[in-house]
Amino acid sequence: MTDTIVKPSTDSITQERRIVTAIPGPKSEALHRRRLAAVPAGVNSALPAYIESAHGAILRDVDGNQFIDMGAGIGVTTIGHTDDAVVAAVAEQVAKLTHAAFTISPYEGYVRVAELLAEHTPGTHAKKSVLQNSGAEAVENGVKIARKYTGRNGVAVLDHAYHGRTSLTMAMTFKAMPYALGFGPFPGDVYRAPNSYPYRDGLSGADAAKRTIAYLEKSVGASDLACLIVEPIQGEGGFQVPAEGFLPALQAWCTANGIVFIADEIQSGMARTGAYFASEHFGLVPDMVLSAKGIAGGLPLSAITARAEIMDASHPGGLGGTFGGNPVACAAAIAVFEQIESEGLLAKAAGIHSILAPALRDLQAKYDIIGDVRGIGAMNAIELVLPGTQEPNTAALASIVAYAAQHGVLFLTAGTYGNVLRFLPSLAISDELLREAIGVLGEAFAAL
Ligand SMILES: *Cc1c(COP(=O)(O)O)cnc(C)c1O
Repeated sequence: MTDTIVKPSTDSITQERRIVTAIPGPKSEALHRRRLAAVPAGVNSALPAYIESAHGAILRDVDGNQFIDMGAGIGVTTIGHTDDAVVAAVAEQVAKLTHAAFTISPYEGYVRVAELLAEHTPGTHAKKSVLQNSGAEAVENGVKIARKYTGRNGVAVLDHAYHGRTSLTMAMTFKAMPYALGFGPFPGDVYRAPNSYPYRDGLSGADAAKRTIAYLEKSVGASDLACLIVEPIQGEGGFQVPAEGFLPALQAWCTANGIVFIADEIQSGMARTGAYFASEHFGLVPDMVLSAKGIAGGLPLSAITARAEIMDASHPGGLGGTFGGNPVACAAAIAVFEQIESEGLLAKAAGIHSILAPALRDLQAKYDIIGDVRGIGAMNAIELVLPGTQEPNTAALASIVAYAAQHGVLFLTAGTYGNVLRFLPSLAISDELLREAIGVLGEAFAAL
């Protein structure tokens, strides 16, 4: 850090909810009209309040409204918006080197991020990392690396999975609408198998794993599979926490059959669940871990981290890309790792759970449309159903999210059935703000 760096203007953002216009306000409406002419409808926005700046757990829009951000840009600004250490690291780096192309001229930041990932991903074995820009790119590269290592083609994925929107990752993602419908043809050799969804399948982890393994053995054959890719806690699919023992049984089967076991921790990783990677909660040591979203405090960066022998199967020049591991994004990621340690953010995730989970269970006791409450650390969700059934209640979800937005709280939805409300606050959120957001949620239920 140098003292020539201008203090971020976000210092003026107080950590409070404030609604001063209709939502969206007049300046947002004007921007939205320009957007409709220039940006296709295929790129949707959950709430067309245009954001001007953000800090900590607060988003401020162009009309001066301030929202408590319960989504952190889909679990990206995990350590808080415009975290001071990230801003300082980025400012310093951007003045020194913005690009060199690591595959042409290397630099230290890339190496340091790879070292930090080797240190913080599960397992003490030798690991290596490749850096890319987006989550989908990490998935694409993970599959490619696993295929090269095993000499096999098959890619196994689970029901309700989300892995991205590129051609290969659309084929791997479960939900056709909106992610894949009409965007084919899709690459082959992708095989989908049942997951563990305790609320809906009622299976023990052992029974769910038996079902998944039997399905893959029948429909593909273990010896044709290069990899099995799982989200330890499914993200877009609805924050399904698998039954105990499900994931370890899958990993044991992969290990016994030479299948690379890949944990897609793009949403569940980087301290979100109170561990660096959610795999730790399940006692997993994946052969490969994919990171993105929260890794660089809002800058685009993703990583593939795997056993050294898996990574080293790819020949020189086979992996890379122009922007992968951009120096500014790497500087931000290094600051994120430092902040997780120095701010005690793993414990903060657990603290968020200890406030949020009981509050959600209290709401469930009061409202019979909350079918399920689930989550670990600061990755939590509720599933809304029609009373006395497991039928998705999408209307209630829409009302609740709209009410909250009008009252200054931004909530994200999820779920294959479009009926899941997910809570992904920044770990920097204060207990007061978190309680305030929960209070607005309670009002939203009461207003139904
Ligand atoms: C977001 C996400 C991806 C895709 O990441 P992008 O950066 O949007 O390409 C892949 N897997 C999981 C689990 C995700 O949550």
